[in-house]
Order: sequence, then C-alpha cells, then structure tokens
Amino acid sequence: MFVSKETIESASRKLFSQQEQKNDGRGVTCVRAICTYLDRGDFNSARTVFQGEGDKIRAYPDIEATCIKYFGCRSHGKHNCNDSLCIAMREHMHKKLFVDSLRQTADDVTKAHKQNT
Ligand SMILES: [Zn+2]
Repeated sequence: MFVSKETIESASRKLFSQQEQKNDGRGVTCVRAICTYLDRGDFNSARTVFQGEGDKIRAYPDIEATCIKYFGCRSHGKHNCNDSLCIAMREHMHKKLFVDSLRQTADDVTKAHKQNT
C-alpha cells in the first residue's frame, strides 16, 4: 500500500495535536508512539501500534476517527470495511463523537452565558 509523504505528515500532525489535549495535557503515550513512527515515515509500524493499542485509543473517539481515516479498520486495515464487527465499531465511534460534540456545545453555551452576565 502506497502512502504519500504528505499524508503521513498530516496524519502525524493531526494525531499529535489531538493527543496533546487529553489527560489534562499529559497526552496519550501510545498515540505519541504512532506519531514517532509516522515521523520516521514508517506507516506500517504506526498502523501496527494502532491495531495493537486500539483498546486504549477507543477511549478517545476523535483520535480513533483519525486513525481509522488514515489506517483503515483495526482488524483488517481496510477503509470502509464491510465486516459487520467493523461497521458496528464505526457506528459506536460516531455515536460517541456525536455525544462529545453535544457536550462541547453545552459547555460553550454555558461559558458564553457566564461571560454575558
Ligand atoms: Zn475490518
């Protein structure tokens, strides 16, 4: 599978900035490991870390979404995988992302409200 240098660089940048904000700014170790491999241009090892550490990454649906976008599904490394388990996992992830975005909107509204009073 050919992956362009630009794709690898943007994947690394995106994942690094996403993990940076987690755990009160301490970040996520296994995601940084993925970035390290990506920075070396070693896309396959980066994907292997994602597939091995996916259980930890699942706690962060935005990071999981980025990984799936670049690496494909965890079990088969396929994009838009048709396996029923992979479809179920994607649906679960999108639900979590949706709930997170609602929570973020609610926080923003609360903040805006506080600023106005
Ligand atoms: Zn799959």
